[in-house]
Order: sequence, then structure tokens, then C-alpha cells
Amino acid sequence: MIQVEKHGSVTVIRMARALFGRPLYWTAAYWLDGLLIDAGPACTAGELVRVLEKAPVQQIAITHAHEDHIGGLNALLARFPDARVYASRQALPMIENPELIGMQRYRQVVWGKPKPYTGIRSLDEVEDTIRTPQFTLRAVETPGHSRDHVSYFEPTYRWLFCGDAFIGGRDTAWAPEFDMFAIISSLRTLATLRPERLFPGSGTVRRTPLPDLLGKIGDLIQLANEVHRLETEGRSVDEIVEMLFGGEPPMRWWTFGHFSAANLVNACHHYNDLTMPIDRSAPRGGKNGSRRGDLPNASARRSTDPDDRRR
Ligand SMILES: [Zn+2]
Repeated sequence: MIQVEKHGSVTVIRMARALFGRPLYWTAAYWLDGLLIDAGPACTAGELVRVLEKAPVQQIAITHAHEDHIGGLNALLARFPDARVYASRQALPMIENPELIGMQRYRQVVWGKPKPYTGIRSLDEVEDTIRTPQFTLRAVETPGHSRDHVSYFEPTYRWLFCGDAFIGGRDTAWAPEFDMFAIISSLRTLATLRPERLFPGSGTVRRTPLPDLLGKIGDLIQLANEVHRLETEGRSVDEIVEMLFGGEPPMRWWTFGHFSAANLVNACHHYNDLTMPIDRSAPRGGKNGSRRGDLPNASARRSTDPDDRRR
């Protein structure tokens, strides 16, 4: 299943495996001026190549080596053999050998398995800058969702292609490898760019990027605060999941536990370990309440975008 829409000079291409005619999970690629940002999953590679039949691809820039962002590479390169493909240095080994991604079985079913691709170039070769005839994009390191993650920023129009560094909606389940400290740091880095359009990995284009980015930071810090408060009351992870999320979300079951609310609570715990060592050494039950860094109204911010992934 594939959807295409134009946002000025940017073509938004959203892809998903369909089940009974409904999309399982959207992921996006963006085309502008001969540059494709991300390559979609393997399961929609043929459709993506057909969509791009009249939009030539001279360059491909990858945000990170997850299967829903690199799976279409081989089909694209078969059709556009002269295209140059760039990714961060950390992403290269996984693109050359997707076994290193460590995909669980459900991920192979939902997106398909990427084939190895060896023609990839490091962004180091172009000093983190990708030029098209009309635009110049700068790669910005944004780890956290994955270690190899970069975003691409076009400073003249202030377009920000952020892959999965920003995922809209309320977070209710995370993978264990997500690093909250790095995710929040990367969101702050993106906010300092003052983008005017945000093009995320879900394909839901944001017209108010700064409030969205700051709201996400506030939500995560608020959540970490709530976890800290409940931990100091002596609550277990299972109790905190029940109190904050009303139990594990459905994603916990269809990802066979890879994504869970318990992982998110643990990520908050590790974040608190890093950011409030003095508080955490205090006697249990002795501290509560808010911490520095709270953003006002953070808990009131919730995305209403139905297409955003609920993690
Ligand atoms: Zn990802």
C-alpha cells in the first residue's frame, strides 16, 4: 500500500503492508529535486520504484538502518543504478549486512527483510552535506531511536527530515534499545534548528515543528518524573505500567514483547539515573513532586494525528 502527496517541492511517499485492505504501520520516504530521503521497506519496494518512474533519483540519503527505511534500496538501485547512496558511518555495516540489524520475526513479516547492499557511502565523504541542483541539506546526528540515526536539515526553507528521531503521539511502548537520554538530547538539537516544516518517518508532515518537538520533550520528562515519583513510593514496574498506562498496550503482544510499556518505564528509570543521581540516592519514599526541567502543560500535550505511531 502506498500513498503519494505533494508538499510544495517535497513529495511525500507513505508506505505500509496492508492487512485486509488496512495499513499495518506507515513509514515514509521523501523525494525532492532528485534526492530521495529513506528507501521504505522491502515489502513496498516495487510500488516505490513505480511511483518514482517520473521522478528520477540521483541521490538517496538514509536516516537510519532500520528495515522500514532501507528495505527498498536494492530495487531502487536496480532502477537507478547511478544513484549515490549516503548514510551515517555507523549505519554502513547494517546496510551491507542486514543480519546485524537483529530483526525479530514479526519485523520481517511486517516490513520484509532487506537484502545486503554494498554500494553505500559514508556521509563523512561529503562532510555531512548533500547538495541537489536547488537545495543543500546538512546531516545532523540524532541518536537515541538508534545509534546510527541522522536527520537532514535544509536551512534556506528550514525543512527538517527527522526520520524516527521524532515519533508523534503519546508514547506507550518502547523497544529496549531506545535511549531516552539520547532521544531527548536529539530532540533538543532538532528544536535548536528552528525548523518550519517537519517531515518525520511516519509521513505525517508537521506544520508547527517547534511546539511539537518541545511538547515531545516535555511529555518524556514529565513521564520520567512520574516514574520517579512512583518508584520512590516503592511501586514495581508492573504497578507503574498499570498506573500510568492502564496496562500494556496491544503492541506489546503483536511485537512479542519487543515493544512494551515496561521497556518505557525502564527507559525512564535509566534516564533518571543519569539526570538526577542525587535524588535517586535519597531514601525511598522521601522525595516526590516535580523536578527542574519540567515544561509547563507537558502532560496536556497529546497528538491527535491518527497516523502517528503510538510508542
Ligand atoms: Zn526506526
